[in-house]
Amino acid sequence: MMKSYSSPALYMQGQNILSQDYDQITCLGHRAIILSNGIAVNVAAEPLCQTLNTQNLVSEVVVISDHFNDHELTNLTTLIKERAADIVIAVGGGKVIDISKIVAAKIDCQLVIVPTLASTDAPTSRLSATYNAQGHFENYIFFDRSPSLVMVDTDIIVNAPTRTLIAGIADALATFVEYRAVKCAHGQNMFGDKATIAAGVLAEQATKTIFREAKLAIKANSAHTVDQHFENVVEANILLSGIGFESGGEAAAHSIANGLTQFVSPTIMHGEKVAFGLLGQLVLSQSSSVLYQKYLKFLRALGLPVCLKDLGLTRDRQILYQIAQEVLRPNETIHQMNLSLTAADIVNTLLQIDSYAN
Ligand SMILES: [Zn+2]
Repeated sequence: MMKSYSSPALYMQGQNILSQDYDQITCLGHRAIILSNGIAVNVAAEPLCQTLNTQNLVSEVVVISDHFNDHELTNLTTLIKERAADIVIAVGGGKVIDISKIVAAKIDCQLVIVPTLASTDAPTSRLSATYNAQGHFENYIFFDRSPSLVMVDTDIIVNAPTRTLIAGIADALATFVEYRAVKCAHGQNMFGDKATIAAGVLAEQATKTIFREAKLAIKANSAHTVDQHFENVVEANILLSGIGFESGGEAAAHSIANGLTQFVSPTIMHGEKVAFGLLGQLVLSQSSSVLYQKYLKFLRALGLPVCLKDLGLTRDRQILYQIAQEVLRPNETIHQMNLSLTAADIVNTLLQIDSYAN
């Protein structure tokens, strides 16, 4: 079977790059639509828009609503066609990034991703997670091309809440554990191919960087001061994990996180659910207690959810059974582990995670 590896054509990361290194955007086309929402509009999208307009790249900001739906998608693609824009720039968090990928694919134009948080590894990938109107995870959509450019301005990221960096750390920490499980089970990466060695190397480096530098990076984030530790952990969260998960494959950690979505508060971030899912992944892989304790201790020290109570859940077997059914949906990556699991196995796994934490 074929191996595959996908990545953005260019990844840039550093302080103040948005106002200094815009050449990499202006060389991509003639007219840009910047999609953004929330605080990112004033913090990053509007300043970028002004910069690009002074550089003769005609640009405008379009604010994405919180309840973006198919009707708004149609209006947006019509607007972009009317403007004859050939670049879509996503400025914001996971939701704006996912929507921008869909929009750029629909009108076949260049896609630039400017994450304003390091909370997930979505920016570099060529897939989007979709959620229904209630915010429940539905599916992954795959696109033909990776983003043309990912620009990570660490002066912007360092001013985001530390909780977002910590969620991204959990998302990135799961990547190597999931890669290894998929590899051991002869499973497939996100493209349905075999993982490349490169994906595994990047995923492993994400883990090493995080265990070594996360605590110092969080301190830097709290002080809103970019240092080398912060730069390295942002790279682990976005680039190393982004390529690692997509070209390496996901497994149970993400299926458990997806399964939890409709049973926990929407305020719980993706990476926080993945932290709990990572522990479930270690249970299912029958990892040694030394390894399990290493991850449990680390996740707990970062304030991530490690038991049912942390997620606002109880040991109610009926609810856990419903979660288990979601975890085992046919399109879930847990099946890449080739374990022929039942819902009862998943319920037991969730209960074991809870017991080990207490
Ligand atoms: Zn993730």
